[in-house]
Amino acid sequence: MIALSVERCSSCNKPKTPGTIFYLVKISLTADVDLELEELSKEELEREIQREFALALRRDEAELNNEVYQEIYYYLCSRCRDNFIKDPFGKLKARGETND
Ligand SMILES: [Zn+2]
Repeated sequence: MIALSVERCSSCNKPKTPGTIFYLVKISLTADVDLELEELSKEELEREIQREFALALRRDEAELNNEVYQEIYYYLCSRCRDNFIKDPFGKLKARGETND
């Protein structure tokens, strides 16, 4: 999990003052892999498993876990929350189509 400050907006850095509403955004990323195991012969499948296992042994455990599942948190002010809802991937902003 990424360290999260609840003192400021994660996007624009606006400080949270008493009485203002901020929003917690939680994003869960889960791997969705399409494997076509049924098309492999038993020998091919065993070779593939051994190859992947050998690769996994050489990698960092946290890195492997992050590839499968990750939670990301943001703490947003009202304005950044509205922008996030309208354009979560920043595509409109990148094309200069926001109303800001
Ligand atoms: Zn903000």
